[in-house]
Amino acid sequence: MKPTPQFDIDLDKHYNATVVIACTECGHETRHHLKSLQPGSPMRCKCGADISMTDSAVALAQRRVAEIKQSYRLQ
Ligand SMILES: [Zn+2]
Repeated sequence: MKPTPQFDIDLDKHYNATVVIACTECGHETRHHLKSLQPGSPMRCKCGADISMTDSAVALAQRRVAEIKQSYRLQ
């Protein structure tokens, strides 16, 4: 099993979710809109390390976004 990259969730003022993926190799952060994130599609850091999000990582990101929105009382 390859390691799942660490990631954070950012919501902009329009509540669009951005996933901020931290590279496990160099620590560089890559931002990606959650909406256009395809589980399992290959993504690479600028250093060449694999920072692809697995199905479960994407599911976790979506759950976190739901929790954040809920805490803003948007749902
Ligand atoms: Zn990197």
